[in-house]
Amino acid sequence: MSESTTDKLENLIIIGGACAGYTAATYASRANLDPLVIEGFQWGGQLQNTTDVENYPGFPEGIMGPELMANFRAQAERFGTRFITDDATRVELSDGGIQRVWVGDDEYRAKSVILAMGAQPKRLGLPGEIELGGRGVSTCGVCDGAFFKGEDVIVVGGGDSAMEDAMFIAKYANKLTVVHRRDEFRASKIMVERAAKTPNIEFKTPFAPESFNAGEGGKLESVSLVNTETGEKEEMAVGGAFVAIGHVPGSQLVTGQIDLHDNDYVKTSEPSTRTNLAGVFAVGDLVDFTYRQAITAAGSGCRGALDAEWYLRDTPPTEEQVEAMAEVAAE
Ligand code: NAP
Repeated sequence: MSESTTDKLENLIIIGGACAGYTAATYASRANLDPLVIEGFQWGGQLQNTTDVENYPGFPEGIMGPELMANFRAQAERFGTRFITDDATRVELSDGGIQRVWVGDDEYRAKSVILAMGAQPKRLGLPGEIELGGRGVSTCGVCDGAFFKGEDVIVVGGGDSAMEDAMFIAKYANKLTVVHRRDEFRASKIMVERAAKTPNIEFKTPFAPESFNAGEGGKLESVSLVNTETGEKEEMAVGGAFVAIGHVPGSQLVTGQIDLHDNDYVKTSEPSTRTNLAGVFAVGDLVDFTYRQAITAAGSGCRGALDAEWYLRDTPPTEEQVEAMAEVAAE
């Protein structure tokens, strides 16, 4: 953990250490804003749990997710970004005043803040789901679909994400089965129709997985399913299983202080990253329930840093901020 003073009034605090947060930090450091990143104890976000990343531009041979995140972090560090490798535990956001962030008992204050807490894919909480992550079980069809060429694969879920993942993965898979716990789909009609028309996609309803089972090589070999109406059980041999049951944005820290969408993602005034509070910006998967890619999160982090830079350039300090700066100078 880098040294940091709790009495200093920072220009910019970035909360979140993954694609969006680190990109924001690189841009902000190069703009001489000397940002402080509270990157989280488990920095690196969703890519930290990913193996090969083949769709991040600039790496024609692909790159491992953790290595890509370490590179993002190192690039921000190269320009002087300071990091706190711990979780932000509380924030007190202000409309144009001093932004306060706590890590345990330590308080950090800033003129602006970029929220980049990301989102987590929802999990089923079943045996084998985490253990076989990267060895057959995945939460990202666009990222991992191409690894399942010629295999039989299931996608779990009945929403648009499940349909979209199914159609993407079906380009590579031998047979793709969408397993959904009800006979009706939450997904839009057009998406269900498109999936249904895809020759190698089948629907299996009303079924839910009960466990993901490893074969001898430690890779996913089958999934145990249960009919949610009759209780009848069966085992299906599969090489891949994609859990596509939605995401949860990491907005708990700011709930009640900032405008959120009904689905708890932070609202911004697109195409900017401005929130309803002056000096508070939000980027990456925390605001994006549509694209959710590493590259889109990184692009959003760039926009956040530029928005913060322009805000700091154009906004004269408030009386409260002037006092805070004078206090620190007098110490
Ligand atoms: P979603 O709409 O919330 O759908 C989640 C699906 O997962 C539901 O079918 C749900 O079943 C199922 N599910 C949830 N928990 C489960 C559990 N524990 N066990 C088994 N099944 C479970 O999430 P989403 O598909 O990620 O979509 C989120 C938003 O993004 C939506 O507004 C969607 O329209 C949008 N989106 C749009 C596109 C597009 O337009 N191209 C693509 C992706 C996402 P139940 O239905 O039984 O609750």
